[in-house]
Amino acid sequence: MLQKSDQKRIFLSAPHMSGNEMNYIHDAFETNWIAPLGPNVDAFEKEIAHYVGVSEAVAVSSGTAAIHLALSLLDVKKGDKVFCSTLTFVASANPILYQGAEPVFIDSEPETWNMSPQALEKALKEACMNGNLPKAVIVVNLYGQSAKMDEIVTICNQYNVPIIEDAAESLGSTYKGKASGSFGKFGIFSFNGNKIITTSSGGMLVSNDVEALKKARFLATQAKDHALHYQHSTIGFNYRMSNILAGIGRAQLEVLDERVQARRLLFDRYKQELCSIPGLHFMPQLQHTISNRWLTALTIDEGVIGTSVPSILKALSEEKIEARPVWKPLHMQPLFEGVNYYSHCENMSVSENLFSTGLCLPSGSNMTEEDQMRVIKCVKELLKMRVSL
Ligand SMILES: *Cc1c(COP(=O)(O)O)cnc(C)c1O
Repeated sequence: MLQKSDQKRIFLSAPHMSGNEMNYIHDAFETNWIAPLGPNVDAFEKEIAHYVGVSEAVAVSSGTAAIHLALSLLDVKKGDKVFCSTLTFVASANPILYQGAEPVFIDSEPETWNMSPQALEKALKEACMNGNLPKAVIVVNLYGQSAKMDEIVTICNQYNVPIIEDAAESLGSTYKGKASGSFGKFGIFSFNGNKIITTSSGGMLVSNDVEALKKARFLATQAKDHALHYQHSTIGFNYRMSNILAGIGRAQLEVLDERVQARRLLFDRYKQELCSIPGLHFMPQLQHTISNRWLTALTIDEGVIGTSVPSILKALSEEKIEARPVWKPLHMQPLFEGVNYYSHCENMSVSENLFSTGLCLPSGSNMTEEDQMRVIKCVKELLKMRVSL
């Protein structure tokens, strides 16, 4: 028997290098491109744009920075409203506050856990009646699952409101054969350390509007005017990606499809091993979509299972297994107290239910089968299943 202290820790989603990263980093050093621009940045942008099937991409310092730039490009400012999925990481909405604008949060629907078209329609209809339409709608693809993009795009087009697709968690996923991140006026990706591929930190803004992306590059490099001296007429940011980090990104992108395969396999094995436990429900996958299954997420029926999400997380943690609750909805966050919120149905808040019953299991693509079986065994024991392993 292994002592607990000898057991290795199993992380939620650890970085997974391909081995080729150092070659690109080496190139950067050889050529002394140690700057937030250079050949790796240019190439990484082209490679991502090609992968996603959009005209162009702009590499930036984080996914958050990409969202902030998208909002700036859409001229979001003080007094404006921006609609945003409520069931997401706070980074989806923080840039709304950076711009001094006001978020309005939209609930999830049960089939994708993402923005409810029904709630969105209600919110847009009311905003339109009040002559107060939002400047943008930020749609999140949670844990790799695409939102109901056809419905959402149709509704937004009806009111002429541009979409920012927050695909930070869904790089490599598809919706009806089309790449996640390519559905809005702008799409954004994140290469934070825990994402499906990583540059340690970094992000990407993508669009088919080449002129807008040209402006994004300008804004992301301190908005320096065309003049011999340092002249500035608008607020800029320092948001470009380092050429060294872009090198990591290029090597990571080469193995993205493998990483998607690995995460999907993890999901399938979890589901196969655990689905017979009554009261466990795995995150669905909408028809005609492929989720990268960034994180394996599931909900528990406390009444059936007889234990709660916090106690499961605690028990796993004691076994050195890092699992997490589902994102706390943004309309429930102290930061956003008093912000307007539209639920899926009058008396059903889907995101609140998902928050109280949902959890994410370790899903890193570099987990071994042995690691995963340890998690599975632990969950089974916790839920008092008599199983032969
Ligand atoms: C990770 C994440 C972001 C932010 O990306 P960073 O690169 O960490 O700034 C934004 N939205 C969602 C949904 C995320 O998961």
